[in-house]
Amino acid sequence: MITSAAAALAASLAADALPAYVYDLADLTAHARAVRAALPPGVELYYAAKANPAAPVLAALAPHVTGYEVASGGELAHVREAVPRLPVAFGGPGKTDGELRLALRLRAERFHVESEHELRRLRALAEEAGRPADVLLRVNLPLADGADAAAAALDGAALAMGGRPSPFGMDPDAVDRCLPLLARGPLRLRGVHAHLASGLDAAAQLAVADRVARWARDLAARHGLPPEAVAEVGAGGGMAVDYARPGDRFDWETYGKGLADLARRHPGTVLRIEPGRALTAYCGWYVTDVLDVKTSGDEAFAVLRGGTHHLRTPATKGHDQPFTVLPGGPWPHPWPRPDTRGGPVTLVGQLCTPKDVLARRVPVDVLRAGDRVAFAMAGAYAWNISHHEFLMHPPPGFHYVGPGTGGGG
Ligand SMILES: *Cc1c(COP(=O)(O)O)cnc(C)c1O
Repeated sequence: MITSAAAALAASLAADALPAYVYDLADLTAHARAVRAALPPGVELYYAAKANPAAPVLAALAPHVTGYEVASGGELAHVREAVPRLPVAFGGPGKTDGELRLALRLRAERFHVESEHELRRLRALAEEAGRPADVLLRVNLPLADGADAAAAALDGAALAMGGRPSPFGMDPDAVDRCLPLLARGPLRLRGVHAHLASGLDAAAQLAVADRVARWARDLAARHGLPPEAVAEVGAGGGMAVDYARPGDRFDWETYGKGLADLARRHPGTVLRIEPGRALTAYCGWYVTDVLDVKTSGDEAFAVLRGGTHHLRTPATKGHDQPFTVLPGGPWPHPWPRPDTRGGPVTLVGQLCTPKDVLARRVPVDVLRAGDRVAFAMAGAYAWNISHHEFLMHPPPGFHYVGPGTGGGG
């Protein structure tokens, strides 16, 4: 559950250098290469930067992705600077005028427009700036009509963002109203975009992609649009990551084969996907040490340095963050070393709130004060979604191993 390079680095850090995030960029690169190889060559792979926008992560992915999906002006400026030569697609439901101006100035390659009002504002700002903008309309597709496989898949999805009332994207009839605004002027319609759910397996993802592609084709037919206006079909991200089974990865092989079939059924269409979590979750570990072990009633608790203000993922998703115990050094004190053996233990952080739980009642062989714990699957939606300032503990260190990092740390 931890790569040897990450484990070696984790073990080498001084206790006062903990907690620390450790990223294995060789592992990330190998994973991204395998994902890319599983996809048909014509499918465009964008990385959703919000999963982990750290510059070394963006750079490590660069040889294996087509571009980056960004969801704020901040992400847009940051990604442009970190990986300047690769295209960006700018999405997000609440773009300000300032952000749209920035995106026009930085020549964002694609704008994912989420409402009619946003389209009108973008058009006005593009006219003002004298810049063209290439647009994909983000649609919130009802999945029930005629797409039972997709609807059933979405019912089981962890984080559905579409297919039901949602602030993301626009309803199909709003897309119809947007088309005249794109007929001429600085905006160019390139296609449609959807990101309907997170946590979908390959079959569900294929059902969604099929639904979006068929809907785009029908839209073009209904309105007599030229082929280039709906040539691009963005099927979103949300490829499943199973924190309970870290060894089970999203089935990119099956998904790639299915996308190849889909591409054959839609000649001339450019399919685009934008995974975040499923690309970067596996390459990061949150490493810390056990400050104390105690029992309360009949339950064992290990209190760790750090906590959910650094790694909020288990608290937001309600799971046990998977971990590996790295045995600590000799016990420096004359009194007995606190420990727990053979039973379930709850791993908590330093915060004065019962919500600061990283893993609950997980069986361990032995866990002792001074041991280190490396929480796996901490490469996405981990540090960057956490409430860092709560309780004013120091921030973790950040360490990268692998190509381009000069070795360890
Ligand atoms: C968050 C998001 C993604 C990435 O989702 P993952 O679950 O990390 O794969 C892709 N597209 C859009 C529009 C998003 O909001």
